[in-house]
Amino acid sequence: MRRRAALLIGFALAATACSATTGEIAATAPAPTTASTATTSTSGAPSPAADRAAGLASGEGPPGQILGIGDDYFPQLGNPGYDVEHYTLDLVFDPEETELGAVATITATATADLDTVNLDFSSLIVSAVFVDGAAAAFTAIDEELTIAPAAPIAAGEDFVIDVEYSGSPRTAGSAAVPFGVGWQTVGNQNYVVAEPDAAHSWFPANDHPLDKATYTFRINVPEDVVAAANGTLVDRLTDLGRVTWVWELDSPMASYLATVVIGDFTIVEDPAAGAVAGVPIRHVLPAGTTVTDWPGLERLGEMVAFLAELFGPYPFANYGIAVVNGFGAALENQTLSLFDRNVARSFYFEDVLVHEAAHQWFGNSVSLGRWADIWLNEGFASYAEWLWIEREAGRDAMERAIAAERADYAVAGLTAPGVPPSFDLFNRAVYRVGAMTLHALRLTVGDDAFFDILRTYAAMFADQSVTTADFVGVAETISGVELDELFDAWLIDPKVPEFPAAGGS
Ligand SMILES: [Zn+2]
Repeated sequence: MRRRAALLIGFALAATACSATTGEIAATAPAPTTASTATTSTSGAPSPAADRAAGLASGEGPPGQILGIGDDYFPQLGNPGYDVEHYTLDLVFDPEETELGAVATITATATADLDTVNLDFSSLIVSAVFVDGAAAAFTAIDEELTIAPAAPIAAGEDFVIDVEYSGSPRTAGSAAVPFGVGWQTVGNQNYVVAEPDAAHSWFPANDHPLDKATYTFRINVPEDVVAAANGTLVDRLTDLGRVTWVWELDSPMASYLATVVIGDFTIVEDPAAGAVAGVPIRHVLPAGTTVTDWPGLERLGEMVAFLAELFGPYPFANYGIAVVNGFGAALENQTLSLFDRNVARSFYFEDVLVHEAAHQWFGNSVSLGRWADIWLNEGFASYAEWLWIEREAGRDAMERAIAAERADYAVAGLTAPGVPPSFDLFNRAVYRVGAMTLHALRLTVGDDAFFDILRTYAAMFADQSVTTADFVGVAETISGVELDELFDAWLIDPKVPEFPAAGGS
């Protein structure tokens, strides 16, 4: 995520989205699921399963049940006991009414014996749930969808859950950022901004980057509307005045990075940039515009190639950006970063292009094991901006830029980047002092070891989830230097340290 100007515009956006959406679907659907309201369905399921679901609905879950996946910052988020392999999201969207009818098909493997399966889900109305094709009882309370299959699932078994749901998707409150996240409706545009905890406001998910999965998106819209998502467009099926856009993402992705972009857009291929990047580059741009209408965007292939030289091969099958209205910032959705059109028109567009591209390695391929380590995403992507300055203007220019920022932050009284407040996860220190932490490491171990560390870390933990200790471990192994003191000083101590003298070889 790129934070510039996000707060004020985010607040305004949340207010707009709330007033623009309606609850019409509630008139035709089963009892609405809203915060603090439980719905229980027992139709079609045998009574023992219904009892298990009902027991959970009244708060009488199995003894010792853990509701979350174990992240201290988000105790309710994610669920233990299974591993999702793939999500197929079949979405039928009506842009006029902002209404969604959907089936989420979730293919998973049990990692424990399961009487019930919990998914994170909120805001929309669940009408039916099936496990391996058989109707299952379920409850939807607050942000937990608890499913009781007809028969318990044994550890090691694969299973498939279908969740049918509908409603008007809208922004949701977040525990970590002070504006609405999730599905955004701005004029005739719809798109998703879900970091860190809002994926489950538009599809049922094991909503934590510890459980990454591949995705298929099938988005059915009127034929004059474009619908994009992460990954590669593999089909476009027309039928009775409507189109189903089919997008496949074959690399594992954290749920918060899943997005759709729906509206009056054009999908623009940039083969010249793709040839430079070494992977296809495609964008989702406002209709009637092309790459040259967004000055700076033509350099994206060069940026990806530059980052690949430093970090190792680009981790996914393709890349590009979507340019939208009303977001106020940028977000690194996997293979399709989202940019506010004003960011794309700004003097710092190139910086943000580099930042979000760098996230494809750091944040998206190498994911967080816990949200407290957000500096592993934002510090790295911010450091990539300085690496771009070094490439464009030389090492001295980069050192001057870093020194100026260090002087600012030394007096700002910020929280250390390794211990961000849970309610202000994306604070400036996470980005800028996080990046300075990497610069201090580079000065300590020297350029050769430093870039070897980044490449090794990116390769060793590709498609996985990590903690700060994993990065420190790689850094110490490669450099042969004991680095606890350096990382503690930069990440934990609230005082911004002086940079070490350049060392290494
Ligand atoms: Zn970022």
